[in-house]
Amino acid sequence: MSWSLKFGSIFGIPIELHITFLLLLLIFSIFGVIPLLAIVLLFVSVLLHELAHSLVGRHYGAKIKKITLLPIGGVSQMEAIPKGHEFAIAIIGPLTSISIGIVLFLVGSLMGLNMTFDLNWIQIDSLKDIIRIVMSLNFLLGLFNIIPAFPMDGGRVLRAFLSSKMDYLKATAISVRIGQGLAIIFVFIGIFYNPWLIIIAFFIYMGGMEEYQSIQMSFALKGIKVKDVMVKDIVTVSPNDSLEDFEKLLIEKRYKGYPVVSDGKVLAIMTLNELLSVPRDRWAYTKVENVMVKDIVIASPEMEIFELYKKLAEMKQGRAPVIENERLIGFISNTDILRFSEILMIKRI
Ligand SMILES: [Zn+2]
Repeated sequence: MSWSLKFGSIFGIPIELHITFLLLLLIFSIFGVIPLLAIVLLFVSVLLHELAHSLVGRHYGAKIKKITLLPIGGVSQMEAIPKGHEFAIAIIGPLTSISIGIVLFLVGSLMGLNMTFDLNWIQIDSLKDIIRIVMSLNFLLGLFNIIPAFPMDGGRVLRAFLSSKMDYLKATAISVRIGQGLAIIFVFIGIFYNPWLIIIAFFIYMGGMEEYQSIQMSFALKGIKVKDVMVKDIVTVSPNDSLEDFEKLLIEKRYKGYPVVSDGKVLAIMTLNELLSVPRDRWAYTKVENVMVKDIVIASPEMEIFELYKKLAEMKQGRAPVIENERLIGFISNTDILRFSEILMIKRI
């Protein structure tokens, strides 16, 4: 999902455009200015839908990281959806789209236009047709998203409803299963009617699974702190070590990553990947400090382990030094956290 370009921000929320949107622009420019304008308005419609989610989310205290716009809808990335407010945050998107559809219907009708539902982009040739197409798109966006296929909006509404009756994890599991069932139905409909549905089904299937696993992990790791999982017996490297020294250490200790320490201070992390980024014939005279990763995640012993796991994923890092009172007291890797959560999950089966 990293095929996105940032192009601006609204209300302080960065807006990214998925590359497929640009591709769509290119394709539709072949058909002329009017279909192209319709695509731009589709983009505005999706943006308004996502902004509604984000602004309501922010109202309830969620931190909005960014909005990514895809032709099949958008994604508002929020940090920790506030529990108890998921219903409002989810439902506002479809409500916004349907409201835009209704407004356009009224405007078009007042202008005496034919406002029947129509998604036939290619054949539109006047500005008047655009009102009809954009109205139809907004209705489609609103109604389609309300289908209870988690992680689509309707699925989130379903989970919000279920979690008022049962445990959040169980509510998620049921919503994901219903979503995956619907995704399979979408594939069949897609084969016969509209191939777009197959792509959407794929996103629903994978997205649901990913979110379920993440929530399952957050439950398993609840209350577990960094200090409970970290490795205390730390092997460090010096920034002045040569890559040849580092190779010897790797073979001897067999960990993939190490904190780089100088005068008792952690400067960076050095891993097998950085070593392999340098041709072997330069290892003897290249120092660790020339290739080490300086932009690292720092953990504290009292930090919740799941918070650290999310932070590492976000920063695309595999490990973090644990620091207390400016002293290195432990080291922790993604693999340690995953292994630990797998073991804890056994207890829940
Ligand atoms: Zn939505």
